[in-house]
Amino acid sequence: MKIYGVTGWKNAGKTGLMERLISEITSRGHSVSTIKHAHHNTEIDHPGRDSFRHREAGAIEVSVSSPARWAVMHELRGATEPSLDELLARMTPVDLVLIEGYKRAPHPKVEAFRAETGKPMLAGQNETIRAVATDSTVTTDLPVLDLNDTAAIADFILAEVGLVTPTAASSVTPPKLRNDCFAMPQGVDWVPVDQALDRLRDILHPLTEHETLTPARAAGRILAADCIARRANPPAPNSAVDGYGFAHAATGTGRQSLPLVEGRAAAGQPFDGAVPRGSAVRILTGAILPPGVDTVVLEEDTALDNGAVVFDGPIKPNANTRKAGEDMGQGDIALRAGHLIRPPDVALLSALGIGQITTHRRLRVGVLSTGDELLGDPAEDALPHQIYDANRPMLLSLAEKWGYDAVDLGHAKDDPDAIANHLNDGAAQADVILTSGGASAGDEDHVSKLLRERGQLSSWRIAVKPGRPLALAMWNGTPVFGLPGNPVAAFVCTLIFARPALSLMAGGGWAAPMALSVPAAFSKNKKPGRREYLRARLTSDGRAEVFQSEGSGRISGLSWATGLVELPDEAVSVKPGTPVTFLPYAGFGV
Ligand code: AMP
Ligand code: MG
Repeated sequence: MKIYGVTGWKNAGKTGLMERLISEITSRGHSVSTIKHAHHNTEIDHPGRDSFRHREAGAIEVSVSSPARWAVMHELRGATEPSLDELLARMTPVDLVLIEGYKRAPHPKVEAFRAETGKPMLAGQNETIRAVATDSTVTTDLPVLDLNDTAAIADFILAEVGLVTPTAASSVTPPKLRNDCFAMPQGVDWVPVDQALDRLRDILHPLTEHETLTPARAAGRILAADCIARRANPPAPNSAVDGYGFAHAATGTGRQSLPLVEGRAAAGQPFDGAVPRGSAVRILTGAILPPGVDTVVLEEDTALDNGAVVFDGPIKPNANTRKAGEDMGQGDIALRAGHLIRPPDVALLSALGIGQITTHRRLRVGVLSTGDELLGDPAEDALPHQIYDANRPMLLSLAEKWGYDAVDLGHAKDDPDAIANHLNDGAAQADVILTSGGASAGDEDHVSKLLRERGQLSSWRIAVKPGRPLALAMWNGTPVFGLPGNPVAAFVCTLIFARPALSLMAGGGWAAPMALSVPAAFSKNKKPGRREYLRARLTSDGRAEVFQSEGSGRISGLSWATGLVELPDEAVSVKPGTPVTFLPYAGFGV
């Protein structure tokens, strides 16, 4: 068995690090056990438990076993504490044993160090320490790891002990996209929307490394590994109501009168002892069913009479109780890799005792606006030839809403060097860049010109309205989505093309929008050739009405709408009542 230690002063974050390492290394497919050295006469049992009573009565070893776990407690009674080797010899073989404490034992260790504990670093004085994991600035010849970067610390330990990660290594940087990945086959002219989406889906893959987080911090993150229930929910059979619990077998039809035992069972306050057959116990919602109880009668259906609870039978066996694991069993897959964590998922993970989860690092989405006419700050007075930048704040807030790190790359004038500088900056900071403006093939379309010369541009002429060509390129190894400048087209192209692509790059898989079929509240004759997206909203009776103008400069229509109506590539004639496809903003996460 491989062994590795975590050491450090009190409050240096040893146990937190141990906990995160166990979860990280386990999630990479290795089996892990731990040994913890405790000072003082730490009690590992509860006074009053049967095992405690056996020990108090003088047993040398007490072995307790249940379907979930077993333990042997060995009373030293003055004998010497076993050495680390003796303890290791007693353990079931696993890939790695992590040891907390045992500072002076010869195995290699990582020191958890925090300057705020006020103690000097152990590293340097203790030769068994191989690296320092810290959130402080330290001076040492040893490797220094970020105390919060569990994946990096796990990488270090696994490399030291020579354990190769069997599954896709979580902290290995995912492969980059190829520089020519967006190239369209020769001779392709107009690409239908579905074909463009299929291409993007084939080309792209997740781009982010993994991070370990607690569920409480994970809302908005995407799981990088399946989450396995550490505990069943509920962990033990318990009462679903306030009432009286008893054994069903002792009840029958008609008036039932069961003498009440002394005491009660409440949530967090288990009843001490068993309930004799034919008796009942006061029980509250969430309380574990004491031995002898399998059924609960609702308080409202009972009366008390002289120390007995009285109710009308028959009552169904197991009435008003919850079975252990009826929600989820221990070891069940609670959530799968690729799932986007939402607040209800945080509740589920917490209930199942999952303290650490492996997520994708947030995708960093850079947003750049281009155009000589743009003014970035709405508080500034605009000259007649200037317009306020609407796309950058829109795209930044979309990226943020989708749970990504939105990186503001500012605004570049229509000048190749200026755009190149901003793209260099973007490629250094972001995983993917969204630009808007200058993406067509005209004189002033500097983004496409620059990307054609220096960024492996592939201009995808997608048969879609609104939206002109989507410019797809690689800049210094970073994918660039060149969106149209027109805010209506930029918004629609972002929802239809960029959103599923970003989700795939973030590790969440391809995200198709939610599509509802609803009757139209409008009329329109559409020509064949291009798929069309209309700014639309649902009326109170569930029909889709569309914005009065299809003018692509009408930003107010985007704001008026609650979704888009999608008209097919073919010709259609829509009349009031014709079923149309409505894509609610909510289904795009907007
Ligand atoms: P372009 O794609 O650069 O030819 O721009 C098309 C139209 O969208 C022009 O009317 C631009 O002024 C306008 N436009 C471009 N970028 C933005 C932006 N960030 N905010 C608002 N309008 C823009
Ligand atoms: Mg422009």
